[in-house]
Formats: sequence, structure tokens, C-alpha cells
Amino acid sequence: MKSKIPLQVIEVLEKIEKEGYEAYIVGGCVRDLLCQKKPKDWDCATNAIPAQIVEIFPDSFYENEFGTVGVKVEPFLQEGSLNREHDVIEVTTYRIESAYSDLRRPDEVKFAKTLAEDLGRRDFTINAIALKIESENEEEYEIVDLFGGQEDIKSSIIRAVGDADERFNEDALRIMRAIRFHAQLDFQIEEKTFQALKKNAALISHVANERIKDELVKIILSDNPADGIDMLQKTGVLKFILPELENGVGVAQNKHHIYTIYQHCLMSLKKCPSKKLEVRLASLFHDIAKPQTKRGEGLNSTFYNHDHLGARIVEKMLRRLKFSNEVIDKVVLLVDNHMFYYNPEEVGEASVRKLIKKVGLGKVKDLIDLRIADRLGSGTPKAKPYKLRHLEYLIEKVSKDAVSVKMLKIDGNDLMQDLKLAPGPKIGAILDVLLAEVIEDTEKNSKESLLIRAKQLDGEDLPKLRQMAKEKIEEKKEEDDQEIKGKYWVK
Ligand code: ATP
Ligand code: MG
Repeated sequence: MKSKIPLQVIEVLEKIEKEGYEAYIVGGCVRDLLCQKKPKDWDCATNAIPAQIVEIFPDSFYENEFGTVGVKVEPFLQEGSLNREHDVIEVTTYRIESAYSDLRRPDEVKFAKTLAEDLGRRDFTINAIALKIESENEEEYEIVDLFGGQEDIKSSIIRAVGDADERFNEDALRIMRAIRFHAQLDFQIEEKTFQALKKNAALISHVANERIKDELVKIILSDNPADGIDMLQKTGVLKFILPELENGVGVAQNKHHIYTIYQHCLMSLKKCPSKKLEVRLASLFHDIAKPQTKRGEGLNSTFYNHDHLGARIVEKMLRRLKFSNEVIDKVVLLVDNHMFYYNPEEVGEASVRKLIKKVGLGKVKDLIDLRIADRLGSGTPKAKPYKLRHLEYLIEKVSKDAVSVKMLKIDGNDLMQDLKLAPGPKIGAILDVLLAEVIEDTEKNSKESLLIRAKQLDGEDLPKLRQMAKEKIEEKKEEDDQEIKGKYWVK
């Protein structure tokens, strides 16, 4: 266990203890360690008050009213995370929280004397475990687990600390947190906690939309996003935060579907092949306007224009939840275009080029992922039908056409300045030959080697150069085509 804790964290704990205070690691990192997961960040709890912590670590900063001091340490890279370097460890004074008059945040923070009090104010048993390092022995540690958190981790259970009903009343964000942990950890919510979630679902309206969004994003990006959304629905939280999605509950579709609108939204999210937030959101929301656009009942009902109306509804929903413009724009674009028509017999390269131009090359791939989610989520088992594979093939083929002399590390000016070539068609022809050679071997794309090669080519006459470029490019295109076709199993 100790070997999994970064040295920097151990040093902080030991330094606090040396000054005669208690120091534990607590919360999410202990939970993750016990679940054999890699903790994202490291939180320490102590009976030292902020001023005393700052005294121990002169390089620390205390800028909030919650008793949390940021202790600067040598930057360390979290194991398994390539890009996030930690250089601050949060050390928080034991506290109890009192009076939550706005159901969101304690009116004041009261420091506590004991670890027991501090653990008692935490939300779920799995998050209320503390771990103490015994400095004398390398591998020794002590666990303080006053609420049966280890047992609940073993049984994969989310259970409120103390009286669940009271705890959700104190802080309604815990409602979202419970459901988020359900999706992230694939843990079941214990019955009393579940009943309390149901009873208090309406309290979620007191939580700021940004905070709801943060938890929703964690649900969507978890390994079980559809379970998370369905838990929001079962507890009655969904109708307060995403009433548009709730509208599809129990609404039947037509002969092409075996699921209701809501079930299909969930299944599409569940089957979404992409890990991107935007594509997952689009999978969940692509049919959001179906309840409003439904005309007729039974096998032949229709949903005309649900894609475009859906895009407008999704924009409103995401704006209300304070998503960034960047996310909103992408999701709206995907929902708006999710009905794009594609049939290999009728659609040619020009239409594919148009689609790429309309949504952008990167997003065509996302659009295909959305189509896959939509199809798999409709209960028909074909994973990636021939049609989509063919489209992927065409997209790759067409995107190759975009290859241009612009990607060369030199341009016409370089040729005129460095090689003293006169302006004229020969310059263009030399660049074409260079491009053909670079497409074949990207190593050749350096200014130095391109200039050397250009000098040689300058010895050839214009028709010869044109011929060389043409042959090389044709050859390369044919090769690529075979390769791409092989990749997507189309002939
Ligand atoms: P994550 O892995 O997402 O960081 P976490 O459990 O560490 O999950 P944090 O928000 O980092 O969540 O909070 C750290 C700890 O603080 C929690 O494990 C929990 O003990 C406590 N905590 C956080 N938010 C609340 C809350 N709203 N009510 C009670 N305790 C909370
Ligand atoms: Mg955390």
C-alpha cells in the first residue's frame, strides 16, 4: 500500500507528524487505493489549523475559508497519467460543517478536534476512510474506518454516512455525487440511501447548474454512463435537470424501433463507440426532439425534422447547464446532422467532399460514431454495416485529395531566393515533383534536402518534370486506394 503513495505525499504527512500533529490521507484517494484504482489527487487531513500548517510549510498558500492549505511539493507525475503533473498537496484541517441554509455550502466552516468528527461529515462510507503512515516501518499503515467503508467497498455499495435523508438535505450536491459514484465505480446504491435519493430528488434544483454539469460530465465520461443516466431517472432527479430527456420516457416509436424514445437514447449512449464527451452527449441527445415531432401513433408514426429541432433544443439545454461554447457547438452540429444520408450506390466522392466541408473532417468521424451509436442503440445488432465502412473509406480517400504543396517545408519563394530560379511555371512543376516524393517518403520533407533535390530537378526541362510528377502521383494514389480499401474491407 505504502509503495503506491507518492514520496511527496509521505513526506508531507511525516513533516506534520514531526511537529506533533496528526496527519492522515483521506477521502477519494484512500477509496481509490482500496479499490485498486489510481488516485487522481491526494488529500490530507490534520488537527493542525491552517496557520500552523503554513508555519510547517513556508512555501504553502492558504487562500480559502475551508481550512484547506495548498502545500507545494516537487512536481510528480501521477502514475498512469501522462499529462497531469501534481505539484500541490491539499492539507485540510479537521472540520465539521454546520447549518446549510442554502442546501449547498455550509454557512461557516467549523474546525473539529478529532478525526472522527471529520470523517463523520463526509458523504459516503467509501469516502470516509482515513489512512495513516507509520513512519518507522516501510510497509506499515493504519486504517481508520468508523463507518464500515472497507466492507462497502468489498461489497460494491454506496451508502451515506449516518442518516441518508439528513445528509442529502444538508447538501443536495451529494445526490449527484451518489449517482456519479454509481456510474464511475459500478457500485450499487444501498436501499436506504436510494430511498433518500428518491425522497429528496427535488432538492437538486438548489444546486448551481455548473456543479450539476461537472457531475453530469463525470457520469457521461464514466465506464457506465447509461447506468448513471438511468439512475438519475429512477430516483426522479432527471426531470429536474434534463426534463427534455424525461419527456421521452414511455413514448413508443415506429416500426423501425423496438425501444421507446428514452430507452433508445440510453442505449445509444451505452453503445457509443467514442470516448469523447461531445459524441457521447450527442448520442444521448440526438433524438431529444422526437416527443415533440411525433405525428401519428403505432407502426407508422413519423418524426419529421426532429434532427434540426433537436439541435436547437440541445443548444438550450447545454447552455442552461453552462457547458462551454466549444462543447455546445460540436454537440449541436452532430445532432443537427445525425440524419445525413449515405448510400454507396448513390453518393459519390463529391457529396462526401461536401459533407466534410460542411461539418469538418474531424467531425465526420464523430458523426459516423454517432451513427454507429444510433444503430446499435436501436436494438438491431449489426455493428458497422457495409454502408458506413464504405463511407469511411471514401472519407479517407477524399481527404487524401487535400494533400497539397502547402505541406512542403519550402515554397516557391525559397526556390527563387536560395536557388535563384526565375519565376515561372518550372517552379510549380518542381514543387509538384517534390510533393510526390515527400508523399512517398516524409523523411524527405526538410528544407535542406528539398533544396538539394530541387537543384537537381532544375536540370530537367519542364515537360520532363511534369511527366515525373504525374507518374509519381498517379502511382501513389493507386497504392493508397488499394490500401484504404483493404482497411475498410471494401473492394
Ligand atoms: P474524485 O475522485 O472525483 O476526486 P472524491 O471522493 O475525491 O472523488 P472530492 O470532491 O475530491 O471527491 O472530495 C474529496 C473528499 O471530500 C470526498 O471523498 C469526501 O470524503 C469529501 N466530500 C467531497 N464533497 C463532499 C460533500 N458534498 N459532502 C460531504 N463530503 C464531501
Ligand atoms: Mg478527489
